Amino acid sequence: MQDKRSFYINGAWVAPLDGTDFEVIDPSTEEPCAVISLGGRADTDAAVAAAKAALHDFMYADPAERLALVKRILEVYNARSEEMGAAISMEMGAPIDMAKASQAGTGTWHIQNFIRAFDEVEFIAPLSEKSPNDRIIKEAVGVCALITPWNWPMNQVTLKVIPALLAGCTMVLKPSEIAPLSSMVFADILHEAGVPAGVFNMVNGDGVGVGTQLSGHEDVDMVSFTGSTRAGTAISKNAASTLKKVHLELGGKGANIIYADADEKAVVRGARHCFNNTGQSCNAPTRMLVERSIYDKAVETAVATAEKTKVGSAHEAGNHIGPVVSQAQFDKIQGLIQVGIDEGAKLVAGGPGRPDGLNRGYYVRPTVFADVNNEMTIAREEIFGPVLSIIPFDTEEEALRIANDTPYGLTNYVQSQDGAKLNRAARMLRSGMVEMNGTSRGRGSPFGGMKASGQGREGGVWGIEDFLEVKAVSGWSNDND
Ligand code: NAD
Repeated sequence: MQDKRSFYINGAWVAPLDGTDFEVIDPSTEEPCAVISLGGRADTDAAVAAAKAALHDFMYADPAERLALVKRILEVYNARSEEMGAAISMEMGAPIDMAKASQAGTGTWHIQNFIRAFDEVEFIAPLSEKSPNDRIIKEAVGVCALITPWNWPMNQVTLKVIPALLAGCTMVLKPSEIAPLSSMVFADILHEAGVPAGVFNMVNGDGVGVGTQLSGHEDVDMVSFTGSTRAGTAISKNAASTLKKVHLELGGKGANIIYADADEKAVVRGARHCFNNTGQSCNAPTRMLVERSIYDKAVETAVATAEKTKVGSAHEAGNHIGPVVSQAQFDKIQGLIQVGIDEGAKLVAGGPGRPDGLNRGYYVRPTVFADVNNEMTIAREEIFGPVLSIIPFDTEEEALRIANDTPYGLTNYVQSQDGAKLNRAARMLRSGMVEMNGTSRGRGSPFGGMKASGQGREGGVWGIEDFLEVKAVSGWSNDND
């Protein structure tokens, strides 16, 4: 078992001041694979103090130095991507090939995209031609607490740490206690790349401990959080007393509207997307809305896709899906599958229990429910497992109404070969993102949600500006402009 009890504070790995041992569990075997320390108040305070002390020099440095720093981080990150993939695979159960390519790969993708977006950020610019002595200055928000979940660890860490660095913020990262190993590799990468002491700090801890201490800390100016809507609400309340800026990236219950004129791969694509990462993605298209005339065929295709989806250990090579992350998630998913059956949805693939031959590890059967109505619990709650709900519809108006009838608003999907119908849906869907006909969002596209899916956008220019304050200056002297 690896001993990972240190925290990265003020440019060095240090022993906890107030830590409690915590075992990280390998979801493929249910065996402990590392012991970390959950920090306490003294550790949180030490990390925040280091970030506060480093802020002045870092935020007022030439922005070009920060860009150069991030370019060095990209080089080191890419050089250590194998190690990163292995850490992610071990801690959260993504199969090793997928962990290296997609999970670790998202980090590379985001760092590259922020480097490109950086040129578009104007740190100082005239207000307009009509106001020659007005300047708009963008400057770092300050000390940031970055709290991340376990499902796409490097996706979420790089979406916060990299723009915070580019903006000139200093920070304390608290990764998920369930998946802390990748963030420890990441801290090492930042150290090797030469991030100045105190600019980036990392403390392991849980939500009630370090998480709550950070969101309520009077020396933290902003908290950027990704995770459950429950924790997002708690963080907002706790942050209110110090009036810090709060960024929230929360859950989703995405609809995938499949019209009768959709391309022939639409259903397979949608089901695979739902099962990807064992269903543990906030933007998973978990409600498949299918036009009645192609409904029976779509259900058949979704069942065949579920049955072809192999499940296995994260340590084995191949394109199977792995276990879900923890006993708690396993129990929650099993419970919701049973609720689906009890509420009258038609179970057509998978179901309760583990797949055949997998008796240990948090393995879930790829599951499809047909004849779901949008009032059922499985259509309303984020399951966060490989469970697809199929809902029939008759008209375009009904499809859009069902898609929007959810507390969430992260990503919706539309499949049709009628361009006008696609564009109508894109305008009417109440979500931060709409993806049509399997087209991925472009480099630097903003990621984030409406309603219970959160507030703020990550990625691209929006992601960097999220960590910047806007300062309006009048009477600017052109002497030193
Ligand atoms: P969570 O929200 O409890 O934890 C995410 C992060 O927040 C972790 O680092 C955790 O330690 C921290 N945290 C938890 N409570 C906190 C609090 N009160 N104050 C400050 N920090 C806190 O998520 P989870 O337990 O890992 O998963 C539970 C559910 O959350 C999942 O079933 C899923 O629905 C959802 N989830 C969503 C996303 C997403 O990307 N939107 C990611 C992970 C989990």
